[in-house]
Amino acid sequence: MSLSEIKKFIEANDNFAIIGHTNPDGDCVGSCMGLWYMLKTIGKNARVIMDTEDVPPFLRFIWNSESSGGEADSFDAYIALDCAGADRLARFKDEFCSFKNTACIDHHRTNVGFAGVNAIFPEAAATGEIIYRLAKEMSNLTLTAEAAECIYTAIASDTGGFKYSSTTGDTLRAGADLLDIGLDSAAIHKRLFDTYTLGQIQLISDITSTLSMHFGGKVAVISVTDELLSSRGMRADDADFLVSLPRSIEGVEVGVFLKKRGSDVKVSLRSGDSADVSEIAARLGGGGHIRAAGITLKNTNLVKAKEIILEEVKNLF
Ligand code: 5GP
Ligand code: MN
Repeated sequence: MSLSEIKKFIEANDNFAIIGHTNPDGDCVGSCMGLWYMLKTIGKNARVIMDTEDVPPFLRFIWNSESSGGEADSFDAYIALDCAGADRLARFKDEFCSFKNTACIDHHRTNVGFAGVNAIFPEAAATGEIIYRLAKEMSNLTLTAEAAECIYTAIASDTGGFKYSSTTGDTLRAGADLLDIGLDSAAIHKRLFDTYTLGQIQLISDITSTLSMHFGGKVAVISVTDELLSSRGMRADDADFLVSLPRSIEGVEVGVFLKKRGSDVKVSLRSGDSADVSEIAARLGGGGHIRAAGITLKNTNLVKAKEIILEEVKNLF
C-alpha cells in the first residue's frame, strides 16, 4: 500500500474535517494536530473535530483550540486518524460512515478499512509515523516546527518514548528528522512520561491494591472505577498512566487494566513478548495491536468483565 491515494485525496479537496478516536491519546491528538498544521501550510481549510475538554490536560501543550470546529458545519472531505474501526469514532460514527468522501490513516492491524480511501500501515509504530511519511511525500510542504512537535509527540506516545518493540529504524529516523526541525525532545518526554499530578501519585496505592494474579503469575489484573476517580475530582483518563503496570511485573505475559465507566467496562490488554492481545480483543469486539489492544464491554461490572477476559486469555496457555 502506498500513500499516493491519500496524497490525491488531499490534492482533490479543499475543506477537511479531521477526526480521531474517542478518549484521544497522544498519537491521536498529535496526528490530528500535525495533519491540521500541514493542511494549513499548503493553503487548505481544515478543522479538527475535538473539544478542548476531550484533550487530556497533559497533551494540551500540542493542542491549538483554533483547530477545533466542534460539530463541523461545512467540509467536503473527512479524514479519520488512529481509529482501528468505525466504532472508535463514537458519536461521529454514523456521520462519518454516511459521508461520501472519506479517508482513514491508521496503523492498527485489526482495521478492516472503513473509509473510502484507506491508508493502513500496521508496521508503523504510530499513526504519527504515517503522517510523517505523508509529509515527506508532499512536495509542496515544508514541515513547520509546530507540526513537527505534534508528530514527534504522536510517535513518542505510542512507542513509550521509542522503546516498544513496534519501534523500527524508520520510527527512529522519523524521530531524528523531526528533532532536527527543532523541538525540545527532553521536555516532551518529561511531559509525557515523567510528570504526574499529586492525585495521580496518590491513586497508585488504590489501584495496586486491586491487583490479582492468575495462571501461575502469567496474567495480572488491576482495576479502577469512575466513582473513585470522580470522588477525587479526577478525569476518567487520569488513571491511564498505570495501564502498562500489570505487564511490567516479572513473569507476566498478559497485563489487564479494567476501567469501570458508567455501565461499561473498558478493558486494556498489554502483552509481554509472546501473546497476541489484538486477537483476544478482536474476538470480544475490540481491536488494536499485538502488544496493546482494547475493548469496551457493555452493560457489565468489574467482576463479570474479569471473568470474560480470563476465560479468553486462558486459551493462550
Ligand atoms: P488502550 O488500551 O490504550 O485504550 O488501547 C490500546 C490499543 O487498542 C490502541 O491502539 C487502541 O486504538 C486499541 N483499542 C482500544 N480500545 C479499542 C476498542 O474498543 N476497539 C478497537 N477496535 N480498538 C481498541
Ligand atoms: Mn496509535
